[in-house]
Amino acid sequence: MTPQSSIRFDVLTIFPDMFRGPLDQSIMARARQEGLIDVQVHDLREWTHDRHRTVDDYPFGGGAGMVMKPEPIFEALEAIRPLAEPAPYVVFMSPQGRRLDRALVDELSSHPRLLLLCGRYEGVDERVLQHAVDLEVSIGDFVVSGAEIPAMLLIDAVARRVPGVLGGEGSLDEESFEGALLEYPQYTRPAVFRDWPVPDVLLSGHHAEVEKWRRRERLLRTQARRPDLLEQAQLTPKERAWLAEATGGVADPGFAQREVDGVIFQARVAVVACAQGRVLLHRTVGDEIWSLPGGRLRVGEALADAARREMQEEAAMRVRPGEILWVIENFFEFQAAFDGPGEGRPARHHEIGVYIEATVPPRFEEQPVFFGAELAGTAREFALEFRWFGAADLASVDVRPAVVVPRLEALLEARR
Ligand code: SAH
Repeated sequence: MTPQSSIRFDVLTIFPDMFRGPLDQSIMARARQEGLIDVQVHDLREWTHDRHRTVDDYPFGGGAGMVMKPEPIFEALEAIRPLAEPAPYVVFMSPQGRRLDRALVDELSSHPRLLLLCGRYEGVDERVLQHAVDLEVSIGDFVVSGAEIPAMLLIDAVARRVPGVLGGEGSLDEESFEGALLEYPQYTRPAVFRDWPVPDVLLSGHHAEVEKWRRRERLLRTQARRPDLLEQAQLTPKERAWLAEATGGVADPGFAQREVDGVIFQARVAVVACAQGRVLLHRTVGDEIWSLPGGRLRVGEALADAARREMQEEAAMRVRPGEILWVIENFFEFQAAFDGPGEGRPARHHEIGVYIEATVPPRFEEQPVFFGAELAGTAREFALEFRWFGAADLASVDVRPAVVVPRLEALLEARR
């Protein structure tokens, strides 16, 4: 998702003064001066017509509190919309909305114009949400007294994505949530403060060692605090080993990666079938050819058709038409170097999980369970081999790296 080169925010609120201050300082002030963002705050009461400039009323059906009336809001939106081009994407800040996170910030920063409607009291008349709002956004699972602070928070987070707002463009690269990792710990002078020294490596002046230390800290920190993020992170074998070490040997079940003669091989323990022949295939693939078990899928070819054909041709498994249960495609659009940050050629990853009902070939019929290890080559070339086990049940199939890595090495050795 590409951020806009500049974003206009229109804010509709009954407390316009609250926006003075936070958006007039520091990074936000500079971004506004440089025209990278424009923030126009509108007082909702300008669109009221009574002496008391009323914006709220009692809720139908009774109950505590007041509700924001629809008329001034609709009038205001209709007046604000034509003030600039294009029409704004209208956001209502609400604890009932989609939770604001890095992905949503990115989505929002792809809009050239956002209109933030700020709720107060018990909220707004439901018809506003139904007919005038594109998206409801929450800042977290708690309630604050009004949407002004949530709106400022959103503006700040979205503005940071606009190129140039942070000055040194580099400062975004290793920020928390980049590459699905948290940031490394930071230190400044003095080198020793109250007997607490800064880690030696940071004083060494050895740039590569500093980079390595930071990368490792990012990984360990993310694993300790936000293991959920790691699922999206692209890690090298060495990095996986760091993590495995820190957790006593268990990290990323089912994944292994080895370099042989300059070729990176990835293995995912990906195929598990029960006696009924239900197979889950999980692939990591490159840019131009998507690989399926034992074969290839060309771009544009229907995944289900190719799966059926490849299963039959390459793995000698009978997959009859209609037996494919479903096909899941996950496209991770980020760039990732296979062999480490800053090294090697970047490749785009697509992950495809295919859930297939297949008939196990006769020679394996006795085996109630089989276990497949995939071998993947570079971004373009893949090979796959199955290994079959007579394991008693699925639970006994161990997919931890400690188990998978030696198997992968044995398979690679056998190929030489
Ligand atoms: N009665 C409402 C909460 C009203 S709080 C409910 O229970 O859902 C008043 C206003 O503050 C809301 O309309 C909303 O605009 C804003 N607000 C409160 N909590 C928020 C949150 N977590 N995220 C975004 N906006 C919030």
